[in-house]
Amino acid sequence: MTSSTSAASAASAAPAVTSVDEVLALVRARGGRATPSRRILLEVLFESSDHRSVEDLACEVQARAPEVHLSTIYRNVEELERLGVIAHTHLGHGPATYQLATIAHSHLVCERCGRRIEAPEELFADLARAAAERYGFSIDPRHFAILGRCADCAQEARDVAGGGG
Ligand SMILES: [Zn+2]
Ligand SMILES: [Zn+2]
Ligand SMILES: [Zn+2]
Repeated sequence: MTSSTSAASAASAAPAVTSVDEVLALVRARGGRATPSRRILLEVLFESSDHRSVEDLACEVQARAPEVHLSTIYRNVEELERLGVIAHTHLGHGPATYQLATIAHSHLVCERCGRRIEAPEELFADLARAAAERYGFSIDPRHFAILGRCADCAQEARDVAGGGG
């Protein structure tokens, strides 16, 4: 068994995985169990990279496997997150949303219109450096979105303030 895939240069806690089987192998390698209900949950996560709440995921799992109990789905989400194969992010005031840990990323979210911009890690490089230097603090910009105004909403606000018609 050899691994010749090129290592991702970005410092990332999550190894690259490209299939449900690879994630399940990772689950086992980290001491977790690869159960059928976990496979279904991972299939749901792989099929769409949308941000989905645990309720959304539960709906989709039960749509294809009605016999899987809600409590099992919730436990699986918790356990897969603990094992580091899925991750949650807060995009605003709503419930946390889940994705595969490999595609976790940062966001800028407009508080006014809800527009969401997926922000690359390098956008936070200066902040990360400053926080580390001054406070010895490691930031995690993927966990919470940065809220504010998108370009259009900021422009509208300026127009209103300027009294322009
Ligand atoms: Zn959180
Ligand atoms: Zn906006
Ligand atoms: Zn996103």
